[in-house]
Parts: sequence; structure tokens; C-alpha cells
Amino acid sequence: MQVEEIKCKTALNPLKSKFLPFDWDLNIYRGCSHSCVYCFARYTHEYLGHTGAKDFDKIIKVKINIPEVLEKQLNKMKRKGGGALHRPVPSGTGHRMVQGVISIGGISDLYQPLEKKYQLTRKCLEVIANKGCDISICTKSSLILRDLDLLKKINKNNFCAIAFTITTLDQKIADKIEPFASKVKDRIVAMREIKKSGIPVGLHLMPVMPGLTDREKDLRKLLKLAKGIGVNYVIYGNLGVRACVKKILFPFIQEEFPELSGLYRRLYGYPAPFGAGRRPRDSKVRQELNQRREFLKNLVGEYKFPSLKFPGTMRRRAQPRTRNDEKNKKTPQLRLRF
Ligand code: SF4
Repeated sequence: MQVEEIKCKTALNPLKSKFLPFDWDLNIYRGCSHSCVYCFARYTHEYLGHTGAKDFDKIIKVKINIPEVLEKQLNKMKRKGGGALHRPVPSGTGHRMVQGVISIGGISDLYQPLEKKYQLTRKCLEVIANKGCDISICTKSSLILRDLDLLKKINKNNFCAIAFTITTLDQKIADKIEPFASKVKDRIVAMREIKKSGIPVGLHLMPVMPGLTDREKDLRKLLKLAKGIGVNYVIYGNLGVRACVKKILFPFIQEEFPELSGLYRRLYGYPAPFGAGRRPRDSKVRQELNQRREFLKNLVGEYKFPSLKFPGTMRRRAQPRTRNDEKNKKTPQLRLRF
């Protein structure tokens, strides 16, 4: 693995999607050595002049000055009532300040192994705890427990939600599809600890992979376990395959699970140009993908998990973000479907 120390100019980037309950994106590393074979974020390495399929987990960029840059950026941002960070929005668009939730680790795990050495996530959390910001974290690492003191401090004064991605309870499969993430049992221990500490905890049951992690019996076991832990929300989704993921996923399936090769080529072999066109033309394939989506939706629905209200989402629902939204009187919904 090649580690490149870089200096960033900006720490927080605005997220413009009205379907996501976050307003800011904070990525402390670029690339991720957890090496999940299905990782949708691989394409982001292509912006850096690397290949998404091969380099994403081999060339990791470490933003060594990010805590200082984050602090400077937060100092410049407007706040409302001295409370949580708010996203400044352009005037004349029919809406006021929108409360801002910072999503950390969206395209690169903030607790990947390099964090043990660099401790940049911890330093950023110190800044966030002092400034009083709302955050949402998603990780596959139990290293997060190292920072429980800071997370508790943030949760005391602000919104803080921590989600763990668990795609399967079968460690043998997890070792193949997400080889360098924390062991599944360690993620579960971390989930319990965080829940016990009073911080809202979520399960990201995604991506569900056909033939590998989609068995009803196994999914029920995982959902039952989440219910037992008392998770505050579950986000689920089936596998979606971008062009650069195909380059790694298809050979992987061919080598490790050759009996599934035909299924993957059938479901995901349609042309999927970069960043768009992820719907297959074949109506039978579309139908099958829809059935899989419905099955997962109904299955998760049976367990009646609570849904956590993100401050950003609540505000958006109450207040249209654009003139068009206002005109059409449509309420933006949180939509995370694959
Ligand atoms: S942990 Fe997340 S960012 Fe890292 S490789 Fe896996 S899916 Fe990608």
C-alpha cells in the first residue's frame, strides 16, 4: 500500500442532495484500505487521476492538516443562535439557513487502519466537540471505541448518530468481501457499547449481495440481532454496481464464487457508464432487481425499527429548499435505494 501525506485546502464540502439528511461531507482520508469489493466510492479516486478499481485501496491519501483546516473553516461559518453549525445558503432562493449535519466517512472509512497512527479523526472530533456541530458517522471499524469519550461529549450538546455497516454475520463471507474491515463480532460489540453510552446507533445493511448475503434466514438473524441491540435506525439497500466496481467485482466473483458468475453478469452486466445509467435495459432484469428491492423492504419493515430524525431532514421537510420544490409542493423524502 502506498501512503501519501497531502495538505488539503478545504475540510468540509457541501452536499447538495436533497435525498440525503446531511449538509456537509468530511473525509479525512482519500481511498480506503478496508478494500471492500463492492465499494461504491471507488470512483472517487478517478477524480484524483487514479483508477477506481485498482488504486482506491492501494493509494491512500492522508490529509495531514485537516484538523487545522476544519477549525478555520468552522470559525468562518455562520451559526444560528450560537448552536449547531448551519449551512449558509444563497439568498433569494426562498429559504433560510438550514441546519447542517456533517457526514464523516461517506467515501472513505474514518477509522481505517491508518487512523491508529495518524489520529486525525480524533483531532477532528476534538474540533467538532469544541465547536458544537451535528454529526453522522458511518464505519466498519471497532477503532471508533477509542474515541467514545469525544463522541459522548458531542452527543451531549449536539446531534450525533453512529452507524455500522454490517452486510453479513458470516465471517467467512465478510473476510472475502470486506477483507480488512473489523471482524463482524467486533463491530457488534462496538455497536452495543455505543448504544449503552446513550448515543444513537444505526445499522447500514448494505449492500445486500445476490447469492452471497441475501438469504432470508441470514438477513433475519442480522435484523433480530440489531433489534436486540436496540438500534435507532436501519438503512438498507441492494448492491448497485458502477462501472469501476465491475472491473473488480466480476473477476472476484469468477474466482471466489464461480457458480454465481452468471447471476452477476445477468443482473449487473448491462453497460453502466461512469456516474450514470445504472438501470438495465432488459425489462426482466429490471423486474428481478425490483423484486429484490421489494423483498428487502418488506423484510426490514417486519421488524419495525424506529427511524431517527436527522435535524437537516426535519428542516428540509418543513421548509422547501428551492423555488421549484415550493411550487410543486413536494416533500423531499430520504431515498437510499440500490
Ligand atoms: S469501508 Fe466503506 S469506504 Fe472503505 S472500502 Fe469499504 S465500502 Fe469503501
